[in-house]
Amino acid sequence: MNKKAKEKTAYLKGRSYSPILLQFPEGLKQEALAYATRLEKEGYEVYLFAGLSFGACDLAIDEAKRIGAKTLIHFGHLPFPLPCFKERPRAVRGKLENVEKEEAGRKGEGRDEGELEAVLPETEYIGVCEGIRVEFIPYRAKPNIAAISTFADFVSSKFKCVSLATTAQHIHYFDDIVEELEGRGVRVTYKKGSYTFLPGQILGCDPNALDKEAEAYFIWADGLFHATALSLSTQSLEKKAVFVVDPMTGKAKDVRAEIERLRKRQKAALAAAIQAERFGILLSTKPGQSRIAIARNIKRELEALGKQAAILVANTFTREGLENFNSFDVYIDTACLRLADDNELFGKPILHLLTYRELVDQLSRLKQA
Ligand code: SF4
Repeated sequence: MNKKAKEKTAYLKGRSYSPILLQFPEGLKQEALAYATRLEKEGYEVYLFAGLSFGACDLAIDEAKRIGAKTLIHFGHLPFPLPCFKERPRAVRGKLENVEKEEAGRKGEGRDEGELEAVLPETEYIGVCEGIRVEFIPYRAKPNIAAISTFADFVSSKFKCVSLATTAQHIHYFDDIVEELEGRGVRVTYKKGSYTFLPGQILGCDPNALDKEAEAYFIWADGLFHATALSLSTQSLEKKAVFVVDPMTGKAKDVRAEIERLRKRQKAALAAAIQAERFGILLSTKPGQSRIAIARNIKRELEALGKQAAILVANTFTREGLENFNSFDVYIDTACLRLADDNELFGKPILHLLTYRELVDQLSRLKQA
């Protein structure tokens, strides 16, 4: 592209991409002001999203629209398959970009480079949601080579075939971990989950990257949240070990007891819900968690079973927002499936959608008896 054409592109980009809303997850908010200052110096009008942000299911599209933003830059996560993305967000950097270019070339499609122009050079994926350009800049943790080697030694001393998954923060070196394991004679299997963007990626609500054929599951992740996503499945873990692996040390910890604890908590919530009369149905307005048709259906179903039910709407559900609704005995969570882990925080039993199905079966049986 010659100098004049470059200037024209920059001018058009400035006009059509501004104002910009920047959305950071909690752990990266300290970087927000530096990004805002940098973009303002380049001539963009910039706003910072100050709500809570936990995942790419949680794009601040409503807020972007409300302030007239043309671009939303979402930090920390890989794209989530939101219904508003008519086309899968496209890679603009890295390995995946080359794969996409090759595929487009094979199909004889031209790539419109203007369409892939990013505001920030760090942007990895771009999509369009409800007319707003959305750029994704995932957080990339630094790989620890010694930790990968410690992990591979442990696995190869105990297993022949394992399933491995990791989070968006570590997925850029997933292939290196797999290679290290295979180099020691371990077969590694993994799949693409239902809501994830890349094969081998796991979410707190989607453990489907793990392959049941393996002898054991390993989840390379900080903290227990992703490894305990298996609490959402009914799969017996009696004979299958589930380990979370600390990316800093490579040390693996068996998390089956924690998964069982969360499953038992759902069973206790189910027992309370069978006796309950008044239900609050939690409906989030976050684009990737908003299930209004399901919430309406639950209300109708519960009422048909002789219960009282109301739909409670919020972007983020907090203890403060719920605590004065003294009328409800139990909440049904249609938002993030892992909200139900926080029974203690909300002070009432919360059933996620999978346990809710069991509730309806049991109440229907009781009604017929
Ligand atoms: S676990 Fe919850 S916050 Fe995380 S991606 Fe799933 S729905 Fe979103």
